Amino acid sequence: MKKIVLLGPPGCGKGTQSKLLVEKDNFIQLSTGDLLRSVTSNSNSELGKKVKHLMESGELVPDDIVIDIIVKKVEEHKNKNIVFDGFPRNLKQAEALDSSLENVSIKLDHAILFEIDFKILEDRINNRVSETKESEKRMDDNSKTLLNRIEVFKSSTLPIVSYYEEKGIINKINGMQMVNEVYAEITKIIC
Ligand code: ADP
Repeated sequence: MKKIVLLGPPGCGKGTQSKLLVEKDNFIQLSTGDLLRSVTSNSNSELGKKVKHLMESGELVPDDIVIDIIVKKVEEHKNKNIVFDGFPRNLKQAEALDSSLENVSIKLDHAILFEIDFKILEDRINNRVSETKESEKRMDDNSKTLLNRIEVFKSSTLPIVSYYEEKGIINKINGMQMVNEVYAEITKIIC
């Protein structure tokens, strides 16, 4: 059973590709963004309020909260194919993921980096924001937050690439291709 991590900036298509892996290749998708949104749907709790505020500004939610959520899921699904979408987002999370997998005697098979032209991504984000209907917008779907999330990606998440490079499990793919072309590259890597 495969365990893979998808790495890439917001809006690069990680979620779309994860869903394809779920539909066609029998994967479980563990998206920390989705898991955290279910925490904030109970935003009356102190934790819910704190998480909501951080997500709205595009900052990372504290590691202990995210790691705790994901470690439980890893234990629950350890015998399945898992695609990690949006996790890890910094080095501490990458190390925590490794040790939680190690605890159940498994290893990460691949980390797949979506390479993206940041200028085009920013244009895409601005277009997406202006075209999305108010009622369909996610709480963090505004240009200011999304642009901040790109900065957070560059400063916190990109350093993970060399961590996975040292382990010999990084694969870089061109994230600017059509959805089916990106998917074809991913399936080549994991099969
Ligand atoms: P997208 O799929 O559009 O890249 P996500 O749904 O993964 O976005 O994430 C939305 C927000 O949730 C992030 O901006 C951040 O505030 C929070 N978040 C998601 N995953 C993590 C994580 N691993 N660590 C910290 N915060 C996270």
